[in-house]
Amino acid sequence: MTNTPIRATLIPGDGIGPEIMEATLKALEALQAPFEWDVQTAGLAAMQTTGDALPPATMESIRSTRLALKGPLETPSGGGYRSSNVRLREAFKLYANVRPTKTIIPGGRYENVDLMVFRENVEGLYMGYEHFIPMDGDPEAVAIATGVNTRQGSRRLLEYAFENAIALGRKKVTVVHKANIMKALTGIFLDEARKLYKSKYEGRILMDEAIVDACTMKLVINPWQFDTLVTTNLFGDIISDLCAGLVGGLGMAPGANIGADAAIFEAVHGSAPDIAGKGIANPIALMLGAAMMLDHVKLHDKATRLRTAIDQTVNLDKVRTGDLGGSASTRVFTDALVARI
Ligand code: NAD
Repeated sequence: MTNTPIRATLIPGDGIGPEIMEATLKALEALQAPFEWDVQTAGLAAMQTTGDALPPATMESIRSTRLALKGPLETPSGGGYRSSNVRLREAFKLYANVRPTKTIIPGGRYENVDLMVFRENVEGLYMGYEHFIPMDGDPEAVAIATGVNTRQGSRRLLEYAFENAIALGRKKVTVVHKANIMKALTGIFLDEARKLYKSKYEGRILMDEAIVDACTMKLVINPWQFDTLVTTNLFGDIISDLCAGLVGGLGMAPGANIGADAAIFEAVHGSAPDIAGKGIANPIALMLGAAMMLDHVKLHDKATRLRTAIDQTVNLDKVRTGDLGGSASTRVFTDALVARI
């Protein structure tokens, strides 16, 4: 069963992407993970070679494999091309962004953090319905953005979050919102959560509610009061990065984008242009993304072996990259990790 080949799309990505992807592939090879990779491009790398940040060949590949491991993709701020990540989410209806956060290295500011964030990934304020209104000779005097949350879209994500929280044996789901101010946009999400909980999940898991601003403060003061958080797109983006900060930064945070048509696994961090090409990037976040991918294809023992090897490499061997206070290069870390597999 474990050796049945699994076709999957591989996108090395921009900046540090190719470096951390090479490291992750070495770990997967050592695990004898049976992925058959179809290597494709996206982001800046694709823009430079094809003029399209998400070329048709890449789309076609994911459409056929329905499974991808993706390095970070560069998106210019302000003008320029549209985010390939957002386009991927839209194209494959990747409605659930799953971001686990767990302390791997003890001794930091927060010990024993174990949080899951489920973020709605295709609606809300990230839909790109934005425009300027000219006034007094300034063509961009007023900026307008429209957020869209649907009952059906909220329910789909909430159901995914509750089902997975229960399956993972978690105890409590906190619905994060701002329904006191954005009464319609985030009120619909809260309303759907309450209805869904009453009709389907009450008695199976606990549910409570938190307003997003207070929630960020509480997460910093006492993260252990939370277990699983479920929220709309923009809030989820911010909260999950905050959670990553609790356990040692973005170099440790993986993410999965799950949808009706495909599942794409990645590191939460970006292409880190400031350290690209130096061979010092921390590949753990992408490796943990690969572990989520192994779980997704039901190769749980390999996922556990990969997580254990990461843990042993940083904690027993004390081999760590610079962002974790160590001095190991990506290659030295990867060799130590492979020796642990
Ligand atoms: P970033 O995450 O790339 O970097 C932020 C800081 O964290 C930098 O100092 C960087 O050196 C450090 N860092 C990030 N990952 C690291 C790692 N693995 N090891 C060691 N240090 C690491 O964020 P940014 O600089 O705001 O964004 C750069 C580019 O990445 C932008 O074009 C942005 O659009 C893109 N981005 C892509 C994704 C994605 O594809 N999922 C996510 C976020 C940002």
